[in-house]
Amino acid sequence: MKIISINTGSSSLKFSLFDMKEEKVIASGLFERIGIEGSSYTIKFNGEKLQQEIELNTHTDAVKVLLEKLIDLEIIKSLEEIDGVGHRIVHGKDKYSESVLVNDTVISDLEEYKEFAPLHNPANVLGIRAFKEVLPNVPMAVVFDTAFHQTMDEEAYLYPVPYKWYKEYGVRKYGFHGTSHKYIANAMKDILGREDFKLISCHIGNGGSICAIKDMKSIDTTMGFTPLAGIMMGTRSGDIDPSIIPYVMEKEGKNVGEVLDDLNKSSGLLGMSEFSSDMRDIVSKCDEGDEQVLTARGKYVRRIVDYIAQYYVLLGGADAIVFTAGVGENSVPIRREVCERLACLGVKIDLDLNNGRGETLKISTDDSKIDVYIVPTDEELMIARDTLNLIKNR
Ligand code: AMP
Repeated sequence: MKIISINTGSSSLKFSLFDMKEEKVIASGLFERIGIEGSSYTIKFNGEKLQQEIELNTHTDAVKVLLEKLIDLEIIKSLEEIDGVGHRIVHGKDKYSESVLVNDTVISDLEEYKEFAPLHNPANVLGIRAFKEVLPNVPMAVVFDTAFHQTMDEEAYLYPVPYKWYKEYGVRKYGFHGTSHKYIANAMKDILGREDFKLISCHIGNGGSICAIKDMKSIDTTMGFTPLAGIMMGTRSGDIDPSIIPYVMEKEGKNVGEVLDDLNKSSGLLGMSEFSSDMRDIVSKCDEGDEQVLTARGKYVRRIVDYIAQYYVLLGGADAIVFTAGVGENSVPIRREVCERLACLGVKIDLDLNNGRGETLKISTDDSKIDVYIVPTDEELMIARDTLNLIKNR
């Protein structure tokens, strides 16, 4: 069985083709600058990398080229080999608590939810329509970033604001990165050999969120109505006092959209450090003793620790803390600092084991009160798995 996992952006299309027998990627790649001058694609397969500039006016063009190339490069013999296509969807509102097969209702729902994810949902629909046109008989599924968090209860997902905002406008916490947190929960189920565990999953990349998981279910998460909430990120502020927004609007003569743009794109590590959003840059600048950058890094770690502590209390203890995504999987000093600040909870890591990277690894010592793991996330595989399950159970 072969499944393609797709992540469509407004001008890009990322794919991974899986052989589901061994859950192995047989080809992956990216189509970029779709509809913009200078469009190109990259396909990686068999340890090789093919890169080419090519005119791509629409996402349908990209899908056509992708399928042609998969055959030309002998990655597949014919399109018949593709059993299903899974699409990553950012927002499924509170209707979709699981992945589903695509039909016309699903597409129109996704279009309706565009006001909740204006940058992402319309782009995701472009990807679905493109595959529908080019592979009309191949079943497709949608896998939502929000779905895993639909198990949160009202106390977790309601904001302390007028109830009407929730009832009439859908103002509530939705949470994101659900596909990654679900992957981590499944990985920990395999490691621990049971489902009844309390887990704090820390997805710390350029975007970041933490999820409290009990018995395989999300019971709270840091992102909220939008991905701007929660921990401090590469360029996003995370939680702030909302009164700052009108204050800065007046000071800088900006409208609300412009200030929100500042909070999404010019805040977080980048905003505080005035240097970089990339943790590698931040860590090397800290080694030079730059005070402003050190404070930014400290704040970043503090926000993570604040939420881990909060979720430790919410869960009534924790069996494991998992670090995943770009920073979580790779940054030795950030993992160390977070764990050092959690020492009062009895967290202890082995500094040698903490040097590990890119593989699933337990880094806590035997006498640590909470196990600490690095688990590389794989959202693409999760999408392919859900797609395959839905197709099998049709
Ligand atoms: P992601 O969004 O999950 O792809 O994560 C991207 C972020 O991971 C980058 O912006 C970097 O800050 C961080 N990152 C990647 N590799 C490393 C590394 N070796 N050390 C520290 N941070 C890293």
